[in-house]
Amino acid sequence: MSRPIPLHELGDREYIDPANQACQGCGGAIVSRLVSKALGEGFVRAEVACCGPAFMNIRAPSIYVEVFEGAGALMTGISRGLKRIGREDVVVMGIIGDGGTVDIGFQGLSAAAERNENILWVCYDNEAYMNTGGQKSGATTPYAATTTTPIGEYSRGKLERRKNVPLLMAVQGAPYVATASVAFPEDLLGKLVHAKGIRGFRYIHVSSPCPTGWGYDPKDTIKVARGMVQSGLWPLYEVSDGILRLNYKPRELKPVREVLKMQGRFRHLNDEEIERIQREVDAFWRRLVAKDGGEIF
Ligand code: SF4
Repeated sequence: MSRPIPLHELGDREYIDPANQACQGCGGAIVSRLVSKALGEGFVRAEVACCGPAFMNIRAPSIYVEVFEGAGALMTGISRGLKRIGREDVVVMGIIGDGGTVDIGFQGLSAAAERNENILWVCYDNEAYMNTGGQKSGATTPYAATTTTPIGEYSRGKLERRKNVPLLMAVQGAPYVATASVAFPEDLLGKLVHAKGIRGFRYIHVSSPCPTGWGYDPKDTIKVARGMVQSGLWPLYEVSDGILRLNYKPRELKPVREVLKMQGRFRHLNDEEIERIQREVDAFWRRLVAKDGGEIF
């Protein structure tokens, strides 16, 4: 299992250029910086169509393809090519959006996990197809207003539950799976450093709030991200060789209402809808606590 690593333990050196093209307050850009810090030298970055190219400022060999669904195949090809030339020491890593992970890229993700490809898949989850106009994805929280689930006379936002891809990857038998959040950088850095030392398929799914699509002030990205973890909307856990461990276990979760109401995409919610989300969060949290320290199935 991982251990939290404070930023200063990794030294002063940065592996990222100061400027990028992301919106102000972008959670994904924070993921990019932390990934580069944790991996340092000796990695290759793969990228597909998503907001990722807006934060391509990592100083590492990078390969970008327009094939939205192609991250699994791209990373597999790079990894196998490196193996062929005897460079298995180089980490193959992708910072892939939730659309390219949980929806359109899921077949390639699942197949790469099945083959136990030697890759590190980091999903920065902004809960929609933000780079193509903010359409809902399988990772969007229920009732969120998106451009394809707008609020109107006959629509209350997205109705379906989130796809739980971290647990799907764990059940597929991936050697290492973790959730993380930009509001808990020590936890994320620890998980990245731990994953770097493992061979085979590794998957880290990071909650990465998006001020543009979620409708909050860019200065509040960390506040929103922290609220999601503290309320149980985004629990932090890891699954190593089938054993689950909760990484953040408060005595009591905060009510989801507070963090939902910080975001424009949930401003329309009534009490009944907030209650539904609260019930689902509480039920999932109870299941996680019951599994903490034990096998996931
Ligand atoms: S749309 Fe959202 S995820 Fe994309 S660059 Fe802007 S803040 Fe980041």
